[in-house]
Amino acid sequence: MSAVGLGVHFTSAPLPQQQPLQQQQQHQQQQPAPFALPPPPPPPPLLPTATLCPVQDCIICMEQLSNPSSYETPPSEEGGQSIAPEAVGKFIKCGHTLHMLCMLAMYNNGTKDGSLQCPSCKTIYGEKTGTQPKGKMEIYSVAQSLPGHPDCGTIQIIYSIPPGLQGPEHPNPGQPFTCRGFPRFCFLPDNDKGRKVLELLKVAWMRRLIFTVGTSSTTGEHDTVVWNGIHHKTEMMSNLSGHGYPDPNYLDNVLSELASQGVTEDCLKPPGSGSSS
Ligand SMILES: [Zn+2]
Ligand SMILES: [Zn+2]
Repeated sequence: MSAVGLGVHFTSAPLPQQQPLQQQQQHQQQQPAPFALPPPPPPPPLLPTATLCPVQDCIICMEQLSNPSSYETPPSEEGGQSIAPEAVGKFIKCGHTLHMLCMLAMYNNGTKDGSLQCPSCKTIYGEKTGTQPKGKMEIYSVAQSLPGHPDCGTIQIIYSIPPGLQGPEHPNPGQPFTCRGFPRFCFLPDNDKGRKVLELLKVAWMRRLIFTVGTSSTTGEHDTVVWNGIHHKTEMMSNLSGHGYPDPNYLDNVLSELASQGVTEDCLKPPGSGSSS
């Protein structure tokens, strides 16, 4: 997948004859799709057309946008489209500006998973997906309360992943991977916040972000299924391991870990129900 179009407006450096397009731009910003590539170049909002000097810097190379990017067009970008060194873009949501070639270089140096993260404010564009192997996520309700959450029951998540062969997205394609400690049992308090975390974990599961294939930090084993930075509570009745309850900060911590993978409450809204409605 090409990076071109990942939530970045193609624009060109502001030109003297540019017309005010602010209304049109506002309309574009209400579109839920982050992949918009609107042809008319929107000027920076609130910038009077008399202000001609593009004083903003590229958030990647830190050069002024009036200077061309020092990155070169990759030799065989999909579709053979070429990008001029002076082409600049602007992230739709956060408004940070950058050279298109700098953006492309950043994308090509990353995981190329179809998403792009603003290096300045960490806003994620597109949908970040992971490399979690095929498996099953089951959810059960348990009457017993967790330590620290005496006023509600417990949500139990059971993850099952069978061993298999690594795909091209894994460290050693074609080689087998192992699965230690599956099924894995995880616990959340069955309250409003816990249920919100559960819904976001379902999104993360669908996007293959909960597990990955790599090296276990506890055993050092290679080519095995490991957690992928979204912490789970695998102990129900104590917290001796640090992976249990009580832990008053856990739900907030896991919400920020989910957010760092691009999984936020926005993902739970039905498509089209933007903040404007
Ligand atoms: Zn740049
Ligand atoms: Zn930004």
